[in-house]
Amino acid sequence: MKIKLSLILLFALLLLCQCNADRKKGIIMTVNGPVSTDKMGICLTHEHILVDFIGADNISDSSYDRSAVIHKALPYLKQAKELGCRTFVECTPAYLGRDPLILKSFSDSTGLNIITNTGYYGANNNKFIPAFAFNESAEQLAQIWISEWEQGIGDTRIKPGFIKIGVNSDSLSEFHKKLITAAALTHLKTGLTIASHTGPAVPAFEQLEILEKEGVVFDAFIWVHAQAEKDLFRLVEAAGKGAWISLDGLNDNNVEEFLSIIKTLREKKLLHKVLLSHDAGWYDPEKENGGEFRGYTTLFEKLIPAFRKEQFSEKEIEQLLVINPARAFEIKVRRRL
Ligand SMILES: [Zn+2]
Repeated sequence: MKIKLSLILLFALLLLCQCNADRKKGIIMTVNGPVSTDKMGICLTHEHILVDFIGADNISDSSYDRSAVIHKALPYLKQAKELGCRTFVECTPAYLGRDPLILKSFSDSTGLNIITNTGYYGANNNKFIPAFAFNESAEQLAQIWISEWEQGIGDTRIKPGFIKIGVNSDSLSEFHKKLITAAALTHLKTGLTIASHTGPAVPAFEQLEILEKEGVVFDAFIWVHAQAEKDLFRLVEAAGKGAWISLDGLNDNNVEEFLSIIKTLREKKLLHKVLLSHDAGWYDPEKENGGEFRGYTTLFEKLIPAFRKEQFSEKEIEQLLVINPARAFEIKVRRRL
């Protein structure tokens, strides 16, 4: 009897451990389906492969030849993989050239985890917002994005892995307030993280205010292009409240500038809220042969060596490049209690 009881206890304990392990793991959603966060490796959190600036009124996937895009961009993605990248977050929104099928083909041929998004991009005075969207309520916009999560994008069955919106760099317009409200509603239903093209602090904090009102924890919000805000105290303040600080315009000419922002956040013990990327790429169908393509190399070739020179520990580097992206893009509802 005693043996039986201890066996049952042992079994219950094992089950409990298993549940905890599963809970710890979490998933991200890639163009090839869910992937465990512990398989993400080094992640570039804000990049592009294809961007078409023609505007929402004229956008069409017939304005480029998929094989030409693949021919141009594939070497750059392979290079990123060779340098150590394992997960690649493609931030091009709908009506700006988001093409889940082409991303799937890049993922299949490189082995990279690639993540795409749902949401609408209101920056640039709504040039990339489809006309019907202006008359929709926040709830209706959210419903469109939620159904992409539930059923896949169009008929591709490919699901978004985060919400990408964009707002102008000044105080939020009524429509941009609606976009962040819709993003909040979508987050609460899907657990997708919100990455908002923002820039300076004014619209960043206004968005945080709306998220708070909607009951979303700031950990669900990525302040995209935060390097545009020159008052570092504002970055420290937002990170201190839990928002993700995306320093995403890294290139060979601004490594020192990035390093100094990162060091400030490190001094304030906020390294665990920083995301790093190049905002590079991309094939532009309006330009001859897609125009000039910026590769995704500076982080590996310049920034990581600079970290080591500045005595960042390997643990801190892993925090920035592996652990933070996994926490930021994990599918998880972050609701205020
Ligand atoms: Zn971008």
